[in-house]
Amino acid sequence: MTTTRIPATLIPGDGIGPEIMDATLAALDALGAPFEWDSQIAGLGGVKAAGDPLPKATLDSIRRTRLALKGPLETPSGGGYRSSNVRLREEFQLFANVRPARTIVPGGRFDNIDLLVVRENLEGLYIGHEHYVRIDGDPHAVAMATGINTRQGCHRILDYAFQAAISQGRKKVTVVHKANIMKALTGIFLETAEQLYAEKYQGKFQFETMIVDACAMKLVLNPWQFDTVVTTNLFGDILSDLVAGLVGGLGMAPGANIGADAAIFEAVHGSAPDIAGKGIANPIALMLAAGQMLDHVQRTDLAQRLRTGIDQTLNIDKVRTGDLGGTANTAAFTQALVARLKG
Ligand code: NAD
Repeated sequence: MTTTRIPATLIPGDGIGPEIMDATLAALDALGAPFEWDSQIAGLGGVKAAGDPLPKATLDSIRRTRLALKGPLETPSGGGYRSSNVRLREEFQLFANVRPARTIVPGGRFDNIDLLVVRENLEGLYIGHEHYVRIDGDPHAVAMATGINTRQGCHRILDYAFQAAISQGRKKVTVVHKANIMKALTGIFLETAEQLYAEKYQGKFQFETMIVDACAMKLVLNPWQFDTVVTTNLFGDILSDLVAGLVGGLGMAPGANIGADAAIFEAVHGSAPDIAGKGIANPIALMLAAGQMLDHVQRTDLAQRLRTGIDQTLNIDKVRTGDLGGTANTAAFTQALVARLKG
């Protein structure tokens, strides 16, 4: 059987990026994943090779493929460089940050977690409209920030999250806000959610709304009462890290950035400069991001095989990297996983 190849951009990234990307590619090869890679550079690698953390060739590649798997990128301090991750979000209107959190290694503080957090990625308090007001001799006497949420932006992320919940067979969606205090900025999100649910999704899943502070507490006290969480940019940033913590930390957390013009998949963690080059990084977060990418291109069969293989390698073969309490290096974990995927 011949499979249609799917063009996709590959950005190994900085620090541990190339190590975990090699491991991920080995797993995807073992699965026979249908991607045809166009390898590009960004981050510190982009600055060194092309004087730009997001070179034109990389942007052109993503414009062509509309699909990318990305390692962590470092933003060089000094030199006035803007974060490549923020630029990618803006350039491709990556409005949804999608982070699944599932317990893979049992026996931690919380077992059997299976949550989906969908975060709005372009609006809210992250738009960066900030300034100081000078009073007398103090240039920073007052600090101000403006947040912007639009009806269209709220509708887009809520519709995405509601659809995602249905397509993943999820039973409940919690809309998280702070409309009791920020009545306009997050009130518009709540109002749009209620309208959209009533008009289009009534009865398709259990719908609830929750204030963000209560949500944070309930996520820690009883995370099993949640299923899908959708929220605005800043709250989503915080809650998605909280949820990653419930399942063993950033080394196990993948993320997808979904937009109208492209979709970019990555690990949630950074370039881990403290362990870069040592061959000991845990590649699972990036591998799970590759799994999300397979889901995105409708190859859920391969994504499931990848997730099952990771489960079996960790829990039956007991091959784990140091951050998970094991002794395996990246190569040994990858070898064991590849054997599972081919077996
Ligand atoms: P980090 O996530 O790189 O590292 C935090 C800690 O977690 C370190 O001790 C590191 O060794 C450990 N760690 C991270 N990933 C690991 C893995 N896969 N296996 C084992 N241990 C792992 O965070 P940081 O040190 O704050 O950031 C380093 C750089 O990464 C910064 O330049 C930052 O801007 C960048 N960054 C990029 C992204 C991205 O591209 N999406 C995300 C976060 C940070």
